[in-house]
Amino acid sequence: MRPIQATISLSALEHNLAVAKSKAPQSKVMAVVKANGYGHGLLNAAKGLKLADGFAILCLDEALTLRSAGYKQTILMLEGFFSADELPTICEYAISIVVHSHKQIEILENASLAGPISIHLKMNTGMNRLGFKPHDFDSVLARLQTCKNVADITLMGHFATADESLGIAKPLEVFKQAAQAHQYPQSLANSAALLRFPEAHADWVRAGIMLYGTSPIAEDSAAKCGLKPVMQFTSEIISVQTLEAGESLGYGHRFTATKKTRIGVVACGYADGYPRHATNGTPIVVAGKLTQTLGRVSMDMLFVDITGIPGAEIGTAVEMWGKHVSVDEVAQAAGTISYELLCAVAPRVPLKASS
Ligand SMILES: *Cc1c(COP(=O)(O)O)cnc(C)c1O
Repeated sequence: MRPIQATISLSALEHNLAVAKSKAPQSKVMAVVKANGYGHGLLNAAKGLKLADGFAILCLDEALTLRSAGYKQTILMLEGFFSADELPTICEYAISIVVHSHKQIEILENASLAGPISIHLKMNTGMNRLGFKPHDFDSVLARLQTCKNVADITLMGHFATADESLGIAKPLEVFKQAAQAHQYPQSLANSAALLRFPEAHADWVRAGIMLYGTSPIAEDSAAKCGLKPVMQFTSEIISVQTLEAGESLGYGHRFTATKKTRIGVVACGYADGYPRHATNGTPIVVAGKLTQTLGRVSMDMLFVDITGIPGAEIGTAVEMWGKHVSVDEVAQAAGTISYELLCAVAPRVPLKASS
């Protein structure tokens, strides 16, 4: 069997959830497990986060997977329903939905359902992605209040710059202004806002990336935030090559040795989710020792410098990210963010839950 695997630590998930709860002690924590639990496996993530007050997902089939596995908490579809035919199932399984468009409201008003559905009404506070403009909010709420298919209502916003120097002051003010006349529970904060802005905690917080042990804030490492890495992405060396000075490596010959260099060829490529944009020098760990990638990442393999690790040979363990090198550091070397790398771990990589 190919030696690649991603090991998911359930205790690290539990720990990171406890961090979220301790940072926002007055709020209920909704664990965001969209995109297959940020690449960790939906049911692995849910298992480690089973003490969360709710789960947020994207699609109905994810919601049903959680219900079938026995989760009784609030389950919120972050973009709501996509078509009218989903509503009876949403109702039957007591799934909560975001409502962000007039189109969705029309469909809700015209549906005949066995009972009402819980709504998170989305306000557009300046991100201009989903939701109603603040000046439309009163009329939209009035419409939902008289809709027979609407059960309880939560008011929801989402921040575009909670992780950046711009912060949240302006959108938070916009939200408060538009929501102040209404006595509904509120849900605002993502991980970055949860960690940086207690004033945004409200009734619910929606924690995503921090639960997987990576930092939502550029200037703070995950460790500094008290978070533990959840995924350890590992493989092995399957070939060893020795380059003489002047010899080159891999596609495009992107690396040329200036001295005798020992190279390990690792069973992990971009088809496994390792970023092809990772530069020469991306941190990677071989036999527990920090070293660097060299050359271009191929579909199924990548190269590591093992010149300084004489014991490294075929079969030696490699950590692409996890305990010894953080996914944040690899993401930085590839010009992206941890979210993208975690979500991109390919279906062909076996996910193994560990305590
Ligand atoms: C994905 C998502 C979150 C979680 O964001 P993180 O930055 O991962 O904490 C919260 N709210 C909404 C609406 C989202 O789509």
